[in-house]
Amino acid sequence: MLKLQGVSKYYRGETTVTQALRRVDAAFNIGEFVVITGESGSGKSTLLNVLSGLDSYEEGEMFINGEETNHYTDEEWEHYRSQYIGFVFQSYNIIDSYTVYQNVMSALIIQGYDPAKRANRAKELIADVGLKAQMHQRSSTLSGGQKQRVSIARALAKDAPIIVADEPTGNLDKASSDAIIQLLKEVSHDRLVIMVTHSYEAVKDQATRHLRLFDGEVVEDKTHKKPTETPEITVKPLYNMPLKDQLKLAFQNLFMMPKRLILMSAISILIVLAIALVYGANVVTTTERSSSPAFNNSSIHRLVVNKWDGSAFSSEELDTLSDLRHVESLIDFDPANEVFLSVLSQYGGLMPYQTNHATGLHPRMIDQGRAPEAINEIVVTRTYGMNIGDTVTVYLSNDRYGYYDAPRDPEQPMQVNLPSMALTVVGFIDDWWDLAYVHPDFYELDSVRYQALRASVEMQFTLDEDTFVTFDNIRIDIDDTLADNTIQVSESLETILKETLNLSASQLLTTPLTFELHNDYLESRETNMTIDAVFEDQYDAVKMSSATKALVFQTVPYQITLIVEDGHSAGLVQERLSSAYHSIYPASYEYPGMANLSIIFNIFNIITITALLMTLYFITYITLKNTMQARKKDYIIFRSIGASKSDLYRMTIYELMMVFMIAFVIVYTFLLFNRYALYWLPDYLRYYSIANYLFVVVLLLGLAILTGLKFNTKIFKNSVITALRVE
Ligand code: ADP
Ligand code: MG
Repeated sequence: MLKLQGVSKYYRGETTVTQALRRVDAAFNIGEFVVITGESGSGKSTLLNVLSGLDSYEEGEMFINGEETNHYTDEEWEHYRSQYIGFVFQSYNIIDSYTVYQNVMSALIIQGYDPAKRANRAKELIADVGLKAQMHQRSSTLSGGQKQRVSIARALAKDAPIIVADEPTGNLDKASSDAIIQLLKEVSHDRLVIMVTHSYEAVKDQATRHLRLFDGEVVEDKTHKKPTETPEITVKPLYNMPLKDQLKLAFQNLFMMPKRLILMSAISILIVLAIALVYGANVVTTTERSSSPAFNNSSIHRLVVNKWDGSAFSSEELDTLSDLRHVESLIDFDPANEVFLSVLSQYGGLMPYQTNHATGLHPRMIDQGRAPEAINEIVVTRTYGMNIGDTVTVYLSNDRYGYYDAPRDPEQPMQVNLPSMALTVVGFIDDWWDLAYVHPDFYELDSVRYQALRASVEMQFTLDEDTFVTFDNIRIDIDDTLADNTIQVSESLETILKETLNLSASQLLTTPLTFELHNDYLESRETNMTIDAVFEDQYDAVKMSSATKALVFQTVPYQITLIVEDGHSAGLVQERLSSAYHSIYPASYEYPGMANLSIIFNIFNIITITALLMTLYFITYITLKNTMQARKKDYIIFRSIGASKSDLYRMTIYELMMVFMIAFVIVYTFLLFNRYALYWLPDYLRYYSIANYLFVVVLLLGLAILTGLKFNTKIFKNSVITALRVE
């Protein structure tokens, strides 16, 4: 069935050419037990390698079942090896990290041996070579003789028509050597066994034929016994491992080398962490801050909501809204956000802070200290000269700088004429904006609501359609002795009113005027009234009864705030609300023209992401190369015992995928801890949708495929025997 016709083989060194085989003619058949002898260097191993398709030949022709082979491609040789050859290597070539059982089992798996009978067959073969006691011992701990027996058991497991053995008894004592020869003799009944040995004496009785080589030439070829029988050879059809077996072997490869697994995982964890952070930073899209011109306070926690028809919210609606996902709490009077806290610094100046609802303050945002737990506590952006535990005077200011309540007379020294509170600093946050976080109850205070409203409410006095005057930031004093629909104005207002409305002092006090409160986002209230007196005051102010003031203070919620964590949550909530409610997120006000820019940013993003992915691939390949290299020999061994190229490609890729998935689970578990307890890293997870997780998984699997392919290309560059020799 195997026939060599004038086959020569050369080895080319740097300067020398060695002829390892010289015009060898020989034919071999099933049922033969051929023993090859010869001095060291006479070409025995070369002949075996050529016969088993592990190495090429240069001249002559080798026939397999009468078929010429000089045109064989790598793939055809691979098929030949996997279907015909069971090889026992002089240097064992077993997988050291596997147990004896796993080594034999892998050969059974690779050839597709009936899964139900695999385990028994493996045990049987191991018993046959006398290794029952070492069945589950790691191969690296075996003696040379024992390794050789594993190698034989594995070759027999393959159940191939040709068994080729290169000095299989070289390392064995007489007794085990005899046992092995007996075993080979038995299998030679229905196979072709070709064996190289030093001591012909030991095999003489079993061998059917003796071939002696000298300097690459066959100098003796004697058949003393005719093959007992020549049965039909049955060649197994080509076989590719099913997914389950590939995964099983990949898993085994990983977990039988724990140190390597840990190293690979550690590298992968760094890679996945880098991906998670870079990608996470990219997922964040809506937390950029700008400020809407319509709102003084563009806190990232403030989502302003009102109804399309301008009507008030019912308490059921408020309950539903505050229960929405991503909504942390609700302020039923949105303008309350507009109050600024001006902290009197130790140098006498006022430091204005934007107010924030404390439920928006996540523990990870706190740099030092804790969140406010009482109405007199405050958390601020770290400021020079301020310490935790300090009690500071804060003024409820109605604009960012708190100047409106300064006296009009520039000659006067600046005085603060704002309602004030004493607050205790309990924590600091890190931010580039001046932010203050206060207890939720703070927003319930009348003084806060009133002061806040002044920031956005304009007061309009109208005489007729063309004659009116508008003021902003007017202080309102309550005087319940005043009749409804009458108000009093301070002298400074009187002056302006007289001029603009073109009325004399006495006319002003008798002419009915329309009094209106305007607001960018509040319902406009309008009432008729008369001014009944002018009072002395250095500020712009009016006096009115509580009933009239109720026009300013809404008693029913027309416009509310939903407290959200940031722009991301705001976006999600807005999406949910879009059909039923009108909502504005002041922190991400888009100035006209910004939309065009964002296209450029997107293109820029795509370029950066592509560059990042390529860098990532190189880093992955370079860092994992060495650890993958450690498995190279095992892969070549797999190849030598008949695993197909595609089986090995897939196994490598699955191994990498498993490692990446382990790393993925570890990294994302860590990020979850980071999110809820550690706060070591920015919390990007909250921006992840399911699509983002899927993207990362797909990215990692893609990376595993690319790296695996690149790695395997290297393994398959050389012929099996060269590859084995190099390793
Ligand atoms: P044997 O197995 O009989 O000891 P080999 O078949 O290994 O002999 O080697 C036959 C000849 O080919 C020897 O001269 C050896 O030095 C040479 N040879 C074997 N392998 C190589 C190789 N890879 N490169 C160069 N020369 C080789
Ligand atoms: Mg040899």
